[in-house]
Amino acid sequence: MARLSLKKIVKRFKETEVLHGIDLEIGDRELMIFVGPSGCGKSTLLRLIAGLDPISDGTLSINDKVMNNVPPSKRGAAMVFQSYALYPHMNVYENMAFGARLMGLSKDEVKRRIAEASRMLRLEEYLDRKPRQLSGGQRQRVAIARAVVRKPDVFLLDEPLSNLDAALRADVRLEIARLHREIGGTMIYVTHDQVEAMTLADRIVVMNNGYIEQVGSPRELFETPANTFVATFIGSPK
Ligand code: ADP
Ligand code: MG
Repeated sequence: MARLSLKKIVKRFKETEVLHGIDLEIGDRELMIFVGPSGCGKSTLLRLIAGLDPISDGTLSINDKVMNNVPPSKRGAAMVFQSYALYPHMNVYENMAFGARLMGLSKDEVKRRIAEASRMLRLEEYLDRKPRQLSGGQRQRVAIARAVVRKPDVFLLDEPLSNLDAALRADVRLEIARLHREIGGTMIYVTHDQVEAMTLADRIVVMNNGYIEQVGSPRELFETPANTFVATFIGSPK
């Protein structure tokens, strides 16, 4: 069974079509990495999966249930944004609790999950702090923890490391791998870092101009790129 299934997904903003019929199936526990040039539609696709934007055409299913018109809090998908998008006036605990409460969880269950997520992301000492009192790396971990608290079946990360410096990036990269093991769900991770894609992914999705050029394991893409675009993007010798 596919955890996530996309069938002929189209997205238009007014007259402009930016996704032209995306077909993709993602299995349980897969770590999928999306790569592609800026503007090719990666963030748009993630927002559609998370339910933050309506789909123009096509069918999106999670666990075999059609999700096209299901609100974000009821989809079993959670997204971590590039900008972190933490609520500045709430402390770390409240930031984590907010989305979980929208799901209708009890206060006790939210508390239990926050304890677990803050242990997982080493945030126990920072629960009282406001986002502005945290470093970039700590804010990043809060953004991830906030999604972990929702225990999503589909975990979406949109270039969450691009604001961090190189040392922090390496650190968070390990964290992503660990997180994927620990949450045990399906993870979709957008990055423009080739090394990240090649070392972390079960499969890589190469996007270009609102289309998928190729889907495959890092090795498949490297050894048998479908076309010059993929070869150049992946950095294979062909
Ligand atoms: P990526 O994340 O791969 O850089 P995006 O998904 O952000 O690309 O954007 C894909 C295309 O859709 C771009 O041409 C962008 O300008 C356009 N786009 C994204 N969001 C909107 C919007 N809200 N209104 C109009 N066009 C948009
Ligand atoms: Mg983007």
